[in-house]
Amino acid sequence: MDLFEYQGKQFFATYDMPISPGEVAFSVDEAVAAAERLGTPVMVKAQVHTGGRGKAGGVKFAADIDAVSEHAGNILGLDINGHIVGRVWIEKASDIAEEYYASFTLDRSAKKHLGMLSAEGGVEIETVAEENPDAISKIWIDPVEGLTESACREWVEGANLNPKANDGTVAILLNLYRAYTDGDADLVEINPLILTPDDKVHVLDAKVTLDGNSVFRHEDYAQYDETQPRDEREEAANAKGLQYVGLDGSVGVIANGAGLAMSTVDVVNQVGGAPANFLDIGGGANADVMAGALEVINNDPKVKAIFINIFGGITRGEEVAEGILEAMNRVDIDSPIVIRLDGTNAEEGRSILEPKLSDALMMEPTMLEAARRAVELAS
Ligand code: GDP
Ligand code: MG
Repeated sequence: MDLFEYQGKQFFATYDMPISPGEVAFSVDEAVAAAERLGTPVMVKAQVHTGGRGKAGGVKFAADIDAVSEHAGNILGLDINGHIVGRVWIEKASDIAEEYYASFTLDRSAKKHLGMLSAEGGVEIETVAEENPDAISKIWIDPVEGLTESACREWVEGANLNPKANDGTVAILLNLYRAYTDGDADLVEINPLILTPDDKVHVLDAKVTLDGNSVFRHEDYAQYDETQPRDEREEAANAKGLQYVGLDGSVGVIANGAGLAMSTVDVVNQVGGAPANFLDIGGGANADVMAGALEVINNDPKVKAIFINIFGGITRGEEVAEGILEAMNRVDIDSPIVIRLDGTNAEEGRSILEPKLSDALMMEPTMLEAARRAVELAS
């Protein structure tokens, strides 16, 4: 679950981190009223589930109420990387002496938590990592031992911040680690973490991803669930009872069984393609389920080819083949389909499909070959 910046800041505040006072607003009038209560100058900040808002004109300084009204008017409705701004966060403006970067996330290969701290904040960390990797100070933390104060201090001292920022940064990072672990987060990021001209360290931006599977032990996370961006494709698929996860690529994927669906996504990637989705149609592959799956995938404008990967188990090959053909009669499909059919009664299934093969419906003997063909058609 991705949090809006203001939700992330409120989440941080519950772990005793210093944030600026602010209010969320859904209209220009609400923004003006919030700024009047807070007192100018304020920042007017677009709340969207994407970064780089500053560059896109979604973060503006407002010296007075007129400026609040002007900026809120411009930012509300703005398109930032495909996200339309529906709410702004009005925050008391801070003076900045220096901008830093701090985050915790999981390093799966190291099987440890990874903390990153950089004196070069404000810009995207990917840019720092590319252009000046030495400017990122890293710490790997054993999840059982946790982050001790002395390890944290050593890490901070190695980051070459302004020495005046060290104490405040240690305090914030210990709390940030607590928010990350106790709060069941997958990612917590502060960019920028600032040092003010009067030597205070302060959280100016918040990016938080919580583990959706932990909602059962955090009652208050329901509020974040409500504001998740909805993927229209996922809603349509879920309404049909399909196990569907939307992805960004151009190869639509249909497979029976979650394990096979995941392997199919992997193999599409492996041969240089990009899957448009994960879709598990379950054990049965009858015409109804297949038609529903094809409909959902066909409605995704990014899809340029469809890869149907079926391994017959209890479901027999000939039933699958009949199901696919009937589904194709029901749904007008825009993209070519590549089928790989194996498992129980695969021969019978393939011989049903063979007379129907064309440029719109192809069959390959193996998963790898089918993936290659689908990726080729999609590119
Ligand atoms: P992002 O572009 O989505 O990462 O949004 P941020 O919240 O990080 O804001 C972008 C930039 O705006 C920051 O790096 C700061 O330089 C600047 N900024 C944000 N809040 C303030 C503030 O209170 N005062 C000042 N002077 N600058 C700010
Ligand atoms: Mg930022």
